[in-house]
Amino acid sequence: MKILVTGGLGFIGSHTCVELLENGHEVVVVDNLNNSKKDVLDKIKKITGSDKIKLYVEDVKNIKALDNIFKENNIECVIHFAGYKAVGESVKNPIMYYENNIVSTINLLNVMKKYNVKKIIFSSTATVYGEPKSCPVSENFSTGNTTNPYATTKYMIERILDDLYKSDNEWSIAILRYFNPIGAHKSGLIGENPNGIPNNLMPYILKVAAGELPKLNIFGNDYNTHDGTGVRDYIHVVDLAKGHVKAIEKISSENGVKVYNLGTGIGYSVLDIVNTFIEKNKVELPYEITDRRPGDVDEVFSNPTKAKNELGWEAKLSIDDMCVDSWNFKKNNI
Ligand code: UDP
Repeated sequence: MKILVTGGLGFIGSHTCVELLENGHEVVVVDNLNNSKKDVLDKIKKITGSDKIKLYVEDVKNIKALDNIFKENNIECVIHFAGYKAVGESVKNPIMYYENNIVSTINLLNVMKKYNVKKIIFSSTATVYGEPKSCPVSENFSTGNTTNPYATTKYMIERILDDLYKSDNEWSIAILRYFNPIGAHKSGLIGENPNGIPNNLMPYILKVAAGELPKLNIFGNDYNTHDGTGVRDYIHVVDLAKGHVKAIEKISSENGVKVYNLGTGIGYSVLDIVNTFIEKNKVELPYEITDRRPGDVDEVFSNPTKAKNELGWEAKLSIDDMCVDSWNFKKNNI
Protein backbone atom coordinates (compact mmCIF):
# COMPACT_ATOMS: atom_id res chain seq x y z
CA MET A 1 0.00 0.00 0.00
CA LYS A 2 1.17 3.57 -0.65
CA ILE A 3 1.16 5.40 2.67
CA LEU A 4 1.61 9.08 3.43
CA VAL A 5 3.46 9.51 6.73
CA THR A 6 3.31 13.03 8.17
CA GLY A 7 6.22 13.73 10.50
CA GLY A 8 7.89 10.62 9.08
CA LEU A 9 11.44 11.69 9.97
CA GLY A 10 10.68 12.17 13.67
CA PHE A 11 11.32 9.70 16.49
CA ILE A 12 8.24 7.50 16.14
CA GLY A 13 7.70 8.37 12.47
CA SER A 14 11.14 7.20 11.35
CA HIS A 15 10.85 3.87 13.16
CA THR A 16 7.40 3.39 11.63
CA CYS A 17 8.75 4.10 8.12
CA VAL A 18 11.30 1.31 8.67
CA GLU A 19 8.58 -1.16 9.64
CA LEU A 20 6.34 -0.09 6.76
CA LEU A 21 9.11 -0.58 4.19
CA GLU A 22 10.07 -3.91 5.72
CA ASN A 23 6.46 -5.00 5.36
CA GLY A 24 6.35 -4.17 1.65
CA HIS A 25 4.60 -0.80 1.81
CA GLU A 26 5.60 2.27 -0.18
CA VAL A 27 6.11 5.44 1.84
CA VAL A 28 5.71 9.13 1.09
CA VAL A 29 6.95 11.34 3.93
CA VAL A 30 5.93 14.92 4.53
CA ASP A 31 8.03 16.59 7.20
CA ASN A 32 8.97 20.22 7.78
CA LEU A 33 12.19 19.24 9.67
CA ASN A 34 11.01 21.28 12.66
CA ASN A 35 12.16 18.58 15.08
CA SER A 36 13.98 16.18 12.75
CA LYS A 37 16.87 16.03 10.31
CA LYS A 38 16.91 15.32 6.61
CA ASP A 39 19.64 12.68 6.88
CA VAL A 40 17.17 10.41 8.71
CA LEU A 41 15.81 9.60 5.26
CA ASP A 42 19.15 8.08 4.21
CA LYS A 43 19.34 6.19 7.48
CA ILE A 44 15.89 4.67 6.90
CA LYS A 45 17.04 3.63 3.41
CA LYS A 46 20.25 2.16 4.82
CA ILE A 47 18.44 0.13 7.49
CA THR A 48 15.84 -1.26 5.11
CA GLY A 49 17.85 -1.46 1.89
CA SER A 50 14.76 0.03 0.24
CA ASP A 51 14.33 3.21 -1.73
CA LYS A 52 10.55 3.00 -1.86
CA ILE A 53 10.42 6.13 0.25
CA LYS A 54 10.06 9.70 -0.96
CA LEU A 55 10.37 12.92 1.04
CA TYR A 56 8.55 16.23 0.73
CA VAL A 57 10.02 18.91 2.98
CA GLU A 58 6.77 20.76 3.59
CA ASP A 59 4.57 21.86 6.45
CA VAL A 60 1.28 19.98 6.84
CA LYS A 61 -0.35 23.37 7.50
CA ASN A 62 0.40 24.23 3.86
CA ILE A 63 -2.73 22.96 2.15
CA LYS A 64 -1.41 23.70 -1.36
CA ALA A 65 1.66 21.59 -0.73
CA LEU A 66 -0.52 18.79 0.64
CA ASP A 67 -2.79 18.95 -2.37
CA ASN A 68 0.23 18.64 -4.62
CA ILE A 69 1.49 15.57 -2.73
CA PHE A 70 -1.86 13.84 -3.18
CA LYS A 71 -1.93 14.86 -6.86
CA GLU A 72 1.54 13.45 -7.50
CA ASN A 73 1.14 10.22 -5.54
CA ASN A 74 -1.53 7.59 -5.42
CA ILE A 75 -1.89 7.77 -1.63
CA GLU A 76 -4.10 5.04 -0.15
CA CYS A 77 -3.69 5.61 3.58
CA VAL A 78 -2.25 8.25 5.93
CA ILE A 79 -0.39 7.96 9.22
CA HIS A 80 -0.48 11.33 10.94
CA PHE A 81 2.42 11.92 13.36
CA ALA A 82 3.28 15.54 12.60
CA GLY A 83 2.65 17.86 15.51
CA TYR A 84 4.21 19.74 18.39
CA LYS A 85 4.61 17.57 21.47
CA ALA A 86 6.34 19.40 24.31
CA VAL A 87 4.02 19.62 27.31
CA GLY A 88 5.73 22.59 29.00
CA GLU A 89 5.98 24.59 25.79
CA SER A 90 2.27 24.01 25.14
CA VAL A 91 1.41 25.50 28.54
CA LYS A 92 3.49 28.60 27.72
CA ASN A 93 2.25 28.98 24.16
CA PRO A 94 -1.17 27.38 23.77
CA ILE A 95 -2.17 29.29 20.64
CA MET A 96 0.88 27.98 18.81
CA TYR A 97 -0.07 24.43 19.83
CA TYR A 98 -3.74 24.71 18.93
CA GLU A 99 -2.91 26.35 15.63
CA ASN A 100 -0.19 23.95 14.59
CA ASN A 101 -1.74 20.66 15.68
CA ILE A 102 -5.36 21.39 14.85
CA VAL A 103 -4.95 23.38 11.62
CA SER A 104 -2.57 20.84 10.12
CA THR A 105 -5.00 18.02 10.89
CA ILE A 106 -7.99 19.89 9.44
CA ASN A 107 -6.01 20.63 6.27
CA LEU A 108 -4.92 17.04 5.98
CA LEU A 109 -8.47 15.72 6.41
CA ASN A 110 -9.81 18.20 3.85
CA VAL A 111 -7.27 17.11 1.26
CA MET A 112 -7.84 13.43 2.06
CA LYS A 113 -11.56 13.96 1.52
CA LYS A 114 -10.93 15.73 -1.77
CA TYR A 115 -8.85 12.82 -3.06
CA ASN A 116 -11.23 10.23 -1.57
CA VAL A 117 -8.56 8.79 0.74
CA LYS A 118 -10.45 7.74 3.86
CA LYS A 119 -8.01 5.64 5.84
CA ILE A 120 -6.07 7.32 8.60
CA ILE A 121 -4.05 6.32 11.64
CA PHE A 122 -3.73 9.07 14.21
CA SER A 123 -0.89 9.36 16.64
CA SER A 124 -2.54 10.04 20.00
CA THR A 125 -1.36 9.79 23.57
CA ALA A 126 -2.21 8.33 26.94
CA THR A 127 -2.35 11.92 28.23
CA VAL A 128 -5.88 12.17 26.77
CA TYR A 129 -6.94 10.19 29.87
CA GLY A 130 -5.74 13.05 32.12
CA GLU A 131 -5.24 11.66 35.61
CA PRO A 132 -6.71 8.16 35.23
CA LYS A 133 -9.07 6.99 37.96
CA SER A 134 -7.15 3.71 38.29
CA CYS A 135 -4.52 1.53 36.59
CA PRO A 136 -4.31 -0.29 34.26
CA VAL A 137 -5.96 2.20 31.92
CA SER A 138 -8.40 0.79 29.36
CA GLU A 139 -9.61 2.50 26.18
CA ASN A 140 -13.11 2.97 27.62
CA PHE A 141 -11.82 5.16 30.48
CA SER A 142 -13.05 8.74 30.25
CA THR A 143 -10.95 11.19 28.21
CA GLY A 144 -10.84 14.94 27.86
CA ASN A 145 -9.98 15.95 31.40
CA THR A 146 -6.56 16.88 30.07
CA THR A 147 -3.93 18.77 32.02
CA ASN A 148 -2.10 20.74 29.30
CA PRO A 149 -2.79 22.20 25.81
CA TYR A 150 -0.67 19.56 24.05
CA ALA A 151 -2.88 16.78 25.43
CA THR A 152 -5.99 18.83 24.65
CA THR A 153 -5.00 19.12 20.97
CA LYS A 154 -4.77 15.32 20.82
CA TYR A 155 -8.14 14.96 22.55
CA MET A 156 -9.74 17.51 20.19
CA ILE A 157 -8.42 15.71 17.13
CA GLU A 158 -9.81 12.42 18.45
CA ARG A 159 -13.22 14.13 18.68
CA ILE A 160 -12.89 15.54 15.15
CA LEU A 161 -12.13 12.08 13.80
CA ASP A 162 -15.09 10.64 15.66
CA ASP A 163 -17.44 13.23 14.17
CA LEU A 164 -15.96 12.68 10.74
CA TYR A 165 -16.79 8.99 10.84
CA LYS A 166 -20.30 9.74 12.10
CA SER A 167 -20.82 11.98 9.08
CA ASP A 168 -19.44 9.47 6.57
CA ASN A 169 -19.17 5.77 7.39
CA GLU A 170 -16.71 5.17 4.57
CA TRP A 171 -13.90 6.47 6.79
CA SER A 172 -11.66 3.96 8.45
CA ILE A 173 -9.78 5.43 11.39
CA ALA A 174 -7.40 4.07 14.01
CA ILE A 175 -6.53 6.21 17.01
CA LEU A 176 -3.40 4.91 18.73
CA ARG A 177 -2.80 6.11 22.28
CA TYR A 178 0.90 5.80 23.06
CA PHE A 179 2.19 5.37 26.57
CA ASN A 180 5.91 6.25 27.06
CA PRO A 181 7.94 5.43 23.93
CA ILE A 182 11.70 5.07 24.47
CA GLY A 183 14.45 2.91 22.92
CA ALA A 184 15.83 3.10 19.41
CA HIS A 185 16.44 0.95 16.36
CA LYS A 186 19.05 -1.80 16.96
CA SER A 187 21.27 -0.34 14.22
CA GLY A 188 21.87 2.78 16.34
CA LEU A 189 21.14 4.87 13.24
CA ILE A 190 17.80 6.35 14.31
CA GLY A 191 16.45 7.30 17.73
CA GLU A 192 15.44 10.30 19.82
CA ASN A 193 17.87 13.17 20.18
CA PRO A 194 16.06 16.38 21.07
CA ASN A 195 17.82 19.75 21.00
CA GLY A 196 18.37 21.59 24.27
CA ILE A 197 17.31 20.36 27.69
CA PRO A 198 14.90 17.44 27.36
CA ASN A 199 11.64 17.21 29.29
CA ASN A 200 11.20 13.46 29.12
CA LEU A 201 13.02 10.97 31.25
CA MET A 202 15.01 8.87 28.77
CA PRO A 203 16.36 11.74 26.62
CA TYR A 204 17.45 13.43 29.87
CA ILE A 205 19.15 10.25 31.11
CA LEU A 206 21.00 9.95 27.79
CA LYS A 207 22.38 13.47 28.05
CA VAL A 208 23.54 12.87 31.63
CA ALA A 209 25.17 9.53 30.72
CA ALA A 210 26.92 11.26 27.80
CA GLY A 211 28.22 14.01 30.09
CA GLU A 212 26.18 16.72 28.37
CA LEU A 213 24.19 17.44 31.55
CA PRO A 214 25.61 17.12 35.08
CA LYS A 215 22.90 15.03 36.76
CA LEU A 216 19.39 13.70 36.50
CA ASN A 217 16.74 15.27 38.70
CA ILE A 218 14.32 12.62 39.91
CA PHE A 219 11.06 14.47 40.46
CA GLY A 220 9.94 13.20 43.86
CA ASN A 221 10.32 9.96 45.82
CA ASP A 222 7.17 10.21 47.91
CA TYR A 223 4.69 8.88 45.38
CA ASN A 224 2.47 5.96 46.26
CA THR A 225 4.58 3.43 44.31
CA HIS A 226 6.94 0.55 45.19
CA ASP A 227 9.97 2.84 45.62
CA GLY A 228 8.29 6.24 45.84
CA THR A 229 9.25 7.43 42.32
CA GLY A 230 6.72 7.83 39.51
CA VAL A 231 5.64 4.75 37.57
CA ARG A 232 5.00 4.77 33.80
CA ASP A 233 4.44 2.29 30.98
CA TYR A 234 7.61 2.53 28.87
CA ILE A 235 7.35 0.93 25.45
CA HIS A 236 10.13 0.25 22.93
CA VAL A 237 9.67 2.49 19.88
CA VAL A 238 10.19 -0.49 17.53
CA ASP A 239 7.28 -2.33 19.17
CA LEU A 240 5.24 0.84 18.87
CA ALA A 241 6.12 1.16 15.17
CA LYS A 242 5.02 -2.43 14.54
CA GLY A 243 1.65 -1.55 16.09
CA HIS A 244 1.07 0.88 13.20
CA VAL A 245 1.62 -1.86 10.62
CA LYS A 246 -0.99 -3.98 12.40
CA ALA A 247 -3.37 -1.01 12.56
CA ILE A 248 -3.10 -0.58 8.78
CA GLU A 249 -4.17 -4.20 8.31
CA LYS A 250 -7.12 -3.56 10.62
CA ILE A 251 -8.40 -0.39 8.99
CA SER A 252 -7.95 -1.92 5.55
CA SER A 253 -10.40 -4.67 6.41
CA GLU A 254 -13.13 -2.71 8.20
CA ASN A 255 -14.45 0.84 8.51
CA GLY A 256 -15.07 2.64 11.78
CA VAL A 257 -13.13 4.44 14.49
CA LYS A 258 -10.95 2.04 16.47
CA VAL A 259 -9.06 3.18 19.53
CA TYR A 260 -6.10 1.24 20.90
CA ASN A 261 -3.69 1.69 23.76
CA LEU A 262 -0.13 0.92 22.72
CA GLY A 263 1.75 0.06 25.88
CA THR A 264 3.29 -2.98 27.53
CA GLY A 265 0.90 -3.11 30.48
CA ILE A 266 3.89 -3.06 32.84
CA GLY A 267 4.74 -0.09 35.04
CA TYR A 268 8.36 0.79 35.86
CA SER A 269 9.46 3.51 38.26
CA VAL A 270 12.04 6.20 37.55
CA LEU A 271 14.50 4.34 39.78
CA ASP A 272 13.79 1.05 37.97
CA ILE A 273 14.77 2.76 34.71
CA VAL A 274 17.82 4.46 36.21
CA ASN A 275 19.12 1.27 37.83
CA THR A 276 18.50 -0.85 34.73
CA PHE A 277 20.24 1.77 32.58
CA ILE A 278 23.31 1.81 34.85
CA GLU A 279 23.47 -1.97 35.18
CA LYS A 280 22.97 -2.89 31.50
CA ASN A 281 25.11 -0.12 30.02
CA LYS A 282 27.83 -0.03 32.68
CA VAL A 283 27.78 3.76 32.79
CA GLU A 284 27.64 6.32 35.54
CA LEU A 285 24.43 8.23 35.98
CA PRO A 286 24.54 10.81 38.75
CA TYR A 287 21.12 11.72 40.08
CA GLU A 288 19.44 13.66 42.83
CA ILE A 289 15.95 13.45 44.28
CA THR A 290 14.23 16.83 43.85
CA ASP A 291 10.71 18.19 44.30
CA ARG A 292 7.77 16.74 42.45
CA ARG A 293 7.08 18.14 38.99
CA PRO A 294 3.69 19.89 38.97
CA GLY A 295 0.99 17.83 37.27
CA ASP A 296 2.76 14.46 37.66
CA VAL A 297 0.79 11.50 39.00
CA ASP A 298 1.84 8.38 40.94
CA GLU A 299 1.41 5.84 38.20
CA VAL A 300 0.08 5.41 34.69
CA PHE A 301 0.15 2.10 32.86
CA SER A 302 -1.98 0.55 30.18
CA ASN A 303 -4.27 -2.34 29.73
CA PRO A 304 -3.00 -3.39 26.29
CA THR A 305 -5.34 -6.40 25.77
CA LYS A 306 -7.61 -4.72 23.21
CA ALA A 307 -4.70 -4.25 20.80
CA LYS A 308 -3.65 -7.84 21.43
CA ASN A 309 -7.12 -9.24 20.76
CA GLU A 310 -8.09 -7.04 17.82
CA LEU A 311 -4.79 -6.21 16.13
CA GLY A 312 -2.82 -9.32 17.05
CA TRP A 313 -0.12 -6.98 18.39
CA GLU A 314 1.72 -6.94 21.67
CA ALA A 315 4.94 -5.37 22.86
CA LYS A 316 7.81 -7.89 22.86
CA LEU A 317 10.90 -5.91 23.84
CA SER A 318 11.94 -5.60 27.48
CA ILE A 319 13.05 -2.72 29.64
CA ASP A 320 16.63 -4.04 29.22
CA ASP A 321 16.26 -3.71 25.42
CA MET A 322 14.88 -0.20 25.83
CA CYS A 323 17.82 0.94 27.99
CA VAL A 324 20.50 -0.76 25.87
CA ASP A 325 19.11 0.41 22.53
CA SER A 326 18.59 3.99 23.73
CA TRP A 327 22.23 4.20 24.85
CA ASN A 328 23.51 2.49 21.71
CA PHE A 329 21.83 5.21 19.63
CA LYS A 330 23.12 8.01 21.84
CA LYS A 331 26.71 6.67 21.79
CA ASN A 332 26.60 6.68 18.00
CA ASN A 333 25.29 10.22 17.87
CA ILE A 334 27.22 12.20 20.44
N1 UDP B 1 11.06 12.33 35.36
C1 UDP B 1 12.10 12.63 36.24
N2 UDP B 1 13.11 13.46 35.81
C2 UDP B 1 13.13 13.99 34.56
C3 UDP B 1 12.07 13.68 33.66
C4 UDP B 1 11.06 12.85 34.10
O1 UDP B 1 12.12 12.17 37.39
O2 UDP B 1 14.05 14.74 34.24
C5 UDP B 1 10.00 11.41 35.80
C6 UDP B 1 8.60 12.04 35.79
O3 UDP B 1 8.34 12.67 37.02
C7 UDP B 1 7.72 10.79 35.54
C8 UDP B 1 8.60 9.90 34.67
O4 UDP B 1 9.95 10.35 34.87
O5 UDP B 1 7.47 10.10 36.76
C9 UDP B 1 8.28 10.00 33.19
O6 UDP B 1 8.30 11.36 32.79
P1 UDP B 1 8.19 11.77 31.26
O7 UDP B 1 8.20 13.27 31.20
O8 UDP B 1 9.22 11.06 30.46
O9 UDP B 1 6.77 11.18 30.81
P2 UDP B 1 5.28 11.51 31.33
O10 UDP B 1 5.37 12.18 32.65
O11 UDP B 1 4.69 12.37 30.28
O12 UDP B 1 4.60 10.18 31.43
